[in-house]
Amino acid sequence: MAKCGACGRYLSVTDGLTCGKCDATCHRGCLNLSEKVKISTSWMCPTCKSKVPRAGDNSNTPVMCQDVGDNSPVYKDIDIGLEIRLLRNELSEMRNELKDIRDNFAMLRDTMLEV
Ligand SMILES: [Zn+2]
Ligand SMILES: [Zn+2]
Repeated sequence: MAKCGACGRYLSVTDGLTCGKCDATCHRGCLNLSEKVKISTSWMCPTCKSKVPRAGDNSNTPVMCQDVGDNSPVYKDIDIGLEIRLLRNELSEMRNELKDIRDNFAMLRDTMLEV
């Protein structure tokens, strides 16, 4: 069973949207999309959509997500992207700490060999 990428709860195939890029799934409700809104097969989840570079970054470009309707909130894209970035930062910090520990062990071993 698939889980919703927005709220983390399980969803059935019928009330879920599947991202055409990363296969992430989301409730229609979590993205503020009503049953009436038609979703194309190339629908992208907010995460993937935020990764797509906007062609011609003029400030007065019209909204480009007509395929999912205009009522999809923009702040959700930002939230998910930010969370992923934070998670990545945490992971790299953890990796650094592990490296420190490994270095300490190597030093310890060296001093023990010297004795
Ligand atoms: Zn959901
Ligand atoms: Zn995706």
